[in-house]
Amino acid sequence: MIDLRSDTVTRPTEEMRQAMAQALVGDDVYGDDPTVNDLEEYAAQRHGFEAALFTTSGTQANLLALMSHCERGDEYLCGQQAHNYKYEAGGAAVLGSIQPQPIENNPDGTLCFDKLRMAIKPDDFHFARTKLLSLENTINGKVLPISYMSEARKFCNQHQLSLHLDGARVYNAATALDVDIQEISTHFDSMTICLSKGLCAPVGSLLLGSTALINKAKRIRKMLGGGMRQAGILAAAGKIALTEQIKRLQVDHDNAKYLAQQLNQIEGFSVNEQHVQTNIVFAKVDSSLDIEQLVETLKTKDILLSASNPMRFVTHQDVSREDIDIMIREISNA
Ligand SMILES: *Cc1c(COP(=O)(O)O)cnc(C)c1O
Repeated sequence: MIDLRSDTVTRPTEEMRQAMAQALVGDDVYGDDPTVNDLEEYAAQRHGFEAALFTTSGTQANLLALMSHCERGDEYLCGQQAHNYKYEAGGAAVLGSIQPQPIENNPDGTLCFDKLRMAIKPDDFHFARTKLLSLENTINGKVLPISYMSEARKFCNQHQLSLHLDGARVYNAATALDVDIQEISTHFDSMTICLSKGLCAPVGSLLLGSTALINKAKRIRKMLGGGMRQAGILAAAGKIALTEQIKRLQVDHDNAKYLAQQLNQIEGFSVNEQHVQTNIVFAKVDSSLDIEQLVETLKTKDILLSASNPMRFVTHQDVSREDIDIMIREISNA
């Protein structure tokens, strides 16, 4: 199978499977799992935070962040396209009684500071209390520049807001910016990282923040049913995601650029190559082409694609340059 639907489809590496088989484990709800403790200590230190929490998913990590920064009746500012607003089943509102205040994203994924400023509510009992700004990097494969994140920090300081980063793919951003991860993380009060996307771990995300924030998040994680027992089996793979898998993300980015160039050679497909900054390619497809039919046809050739327009292609460890050539050939022939 050649699967370009998402980088979530990556399977654990051989090294991960070995580490999982051999992981020392204990009951993590008692704080007794040495492999989870090691991952959390390593992740906190590596990203410049006081503490870290291993979570079941990126969605859970974001929800814990929002519910730890905000109380019932508070609100957070975010992008209209933000994953934690649009794609997480409204969890912050449903489970946290937290009001989202979305702002239209600019084409480059940033949020305009003037619009954010106007959205901050005055201290008055008519309004929800604006507590937090949540950004996302990468967002739809695009990278927020360091200068923008630094501006966001100043903006939040000015307005006494906390600043969260949904960093599901933050290592793709660091790779594209060619910076150490701390040049990104230093701007934020909290940050999430997905270990189970391009970094290939089978399950799990991290939430990073202050000790106080993480202690609060740990209680809410338990409430949500996210307290796991011998989770070291999973954390063992998560550690390898951070120590071994980051260095190969550039390959995914190069493959995405190549895929974009090749798609642009096919009639009816058009990719803005400037927008291909990491491992995600969006291709506009001519309305004369039947996308559903195309996806069905390619499925019979063991190639899995998402049926949307623009079509989204995501490169990852389990997609090689040869796989891309095969896919391009099959699309051209379809
Ligand atoms: C995938 C993703 C998440 C959620 O991660 P899951 O592990 O799928 O719950 C959150 N934010 C962004 C930006 C993502 O891409």
